[in-house]
Amino acid sequence: MLDNLTQRLAKVVKTMRGEARLTEANTAEMLREVRLALLEADVALPAVREFIAKVKEKALGEEVIGSLSPGQALVGVVQKELGALMGADLGPDASQLSFAQQPPAVILMAGLQGVGKTTTTGKLAKYLKEEKKKKVLTVSADVYRPAAIAQLESVTKQVGADFFPSTASDKPVDIAKNAIDWAKKHYHDVVIIDTAGRLAIDEAMMQEIAAVHAAANPIETLFVVDAMVGQDAINTAKAFNDALPLTGVILTKLDGDSRGGAALSVRHVTGKPIKFAGVSEKLDGLEAFDPARMANRVLG
Ligand code: GDP
Repeated sequence: MLDNLTQRLAKVVKTMRGEARLTEANTAEMLREVRLALLEADVALPAVREFIAKVKEKALGEEVIGSLSPGQALVGVVQKELGALMGADLGPDASQLSFAQQPPAVILMAGLQGVGKTTTTGKLAKYLKEEKKKKVLTVSADVYRPAAIAQLESVTKQVGADFFPSTASDKPVDIAKNAIDWAKKHYHDVVIIDTAGRLAIDEAMMQEIAAVHAAANPIETLFVVDAMVGQDAINTAKAFNDALPLTGVILTKLDGDSRGGAALSVRHVTGKPIKFAGVSEKLDGLEAFDPARMANRVLG
């Protein structure tokens, strides 16, 4: 447990000795370091506060058992609670996607422009095709950027899935309905709908994606968020979570050097499982999300 402990916490652990119980006094310094580590990792303040309060609640009064030092005991609580907040308590099935009893299962991709939605749609199509042996159709409801439609067509072809063409003169809701009708007739198991993103939260975009959601009745509505965005993740997650019944999150660009505090902020706001992590620009760069590993990364 202590092997992958951050240096800063390890230093504090050493100074906390010889007490039989965790108290306000002997945990204060360590909790301050944890708080700093989370803020440095760009976890949004409300999420940091919630976490520290939870650790305090679990830790204070706890007996320090056996050969453990108080510091080690507290580290145990911190790692367990951080893992839980990342989703470890949801169990190994939390990262699984659901499939409709009556195919096609519809997956709706939501998120701001540039976060990696289209790339991730291609990655998911590849994963579903190769790992889950599904017949996958992708479609773009981004009628504002013809380049986005062409980009989805390109990644879909690269992974060998089927692509439903749309044009800038179509309505997003019609695109979704037509693609699903097509998928029914051609026995696709899954339809992944890529949607238009904006650079910032926008009321018209939210209304449009809510309408697409209502028309498509997806079994999975996945919020795609860039791990590099930092503090702002909390606002974006809130806006999408309010507009749509999200079923999960995909955290992209974890191969970058951000500590990934966005993960904690998004979990804090949505409570939904982070199902996958994007770890490369390439189409095989998608992994099941690992809460314990993420907890360690965020601690630094
Ligand atoms: P969209 O506007 O949300 O559809 O975003 P795109 O799919 O066009 O991706 C935006 C940029 O992020 C592109 O340059 C992608 O190659 C890149 N990208 C997407 N996912 C990842 C990832 O997991 N890691 C890295 N390093 N880059 C990514």
